[in-house]
Amino acid sequence: MGDWQAEHGMSTSPFRTAWFEVSKMEAGVYMVSEPGHVNSWLIEGSKSAVLFDTGLGVANIRKVAEEITLHKLLVVNSHYHFDHSGGNRFFDEFAIHRSGAELVSKPSPPELAARYMAYTRRLLEAWGPYREADELYFHMLTAERMIRELPEGFDPDGYEVVPSIPTRLLDEGDVLDLGGRQLQVLHTPGHSPDCICLLDEANGLLFGGDTINTGPIYAQMEDSDLEKFARSTARLAQMADGYRRVFVCHFLRFDEPSALVKEIAAGFQTLLSGEAFIRDNVDCFNQPVKEACFEHFSVFIPAGEPTRL
Ligand SMILES: [Zn+2]
Ligand SMILES: [Zn+2]
Repeated sequence: MGDWQAEHGMSTSPFRTAWFEVSKMEAGVYMVSEPGHVNSWLIEGSKSAVLFDTGLGVANIRKVAEEITLHKLLVVNSHYHFDHSGGNRFFDEFAIHRSGAELVSKPSPPELAARYMAYTRRLLEAWGPYREADELYFHMLTAERMIRELPEGFDPDGYEVVPSIPTRLLDEGDVLDLGGRQLQVLHTPGHSPDCICLLDEANGLLFGGDTINTGPIYAQMEDSDLEKFARSTARLAQMADGYRRVFVCHFLRFDEPSALVKEIAAGFQTLLSGEAFIRDNVDCFNQPVKEACFEHFSVFIPAGEPTRL
């Protein structure tokens, strides 16, 4: 484990709050994780830094970001969903793709927050025996992968998805110049209409948002579009030889090689051609879904009604 961390430039003494885990992935790139829930990313240049996503909003991500960097922060949402924009309320300014402006500023269905907190309880119940088995047999879990209890003083019944108004709109091809590091905005609709990835071409880094994931990829949402998803992933796969590392927002595998992007693009093609192996499952809102299974990820599609956010 030590060698692996050293090789990846990962800090062996990450800084940690009751809720967030901060890991240095390499020079100027930090993962701000809410382990088991979602990962946000802080990417630093010589003049400013981007915080790519603001997480669930369960705890104050701004304080954490300001501990990582002294540079001016540009907050960017990968898309409007609550688990990526929940901390927007801690900031005066944030950017989102143009097609997410309205989506992020409208109230969510009132039951959404409660359903996610119910998922959090199920996650914690599953975690106990999973961790025990890991300690006895498997030894896959490292410090930054430990699921936490909700922070002390946080009331799950009071959890709210708060709408927020963006102060800047992003378009395909926009370049965020951080000084010595440029991030290119790639519009990758599919999971939702406003999904973006950020590409640091010079350093070979792709920040995949919810377009690239290592567990179920959510295409079962009301505003998901399977064909657009397939096109977006095919486009990312075409450029994949330029990715040295692919950083992922969900589940416990968050640092992947470019091969994952090619596999996902191929997976969508297999799914569209009707040749994927499909089984029944439920998503994190406990909504029944069909799951197309692949070696390193899966794709959720609606079993009946799509999942509403
Ligand atoms: Zn999402
Ligand atoms: Zn998400």
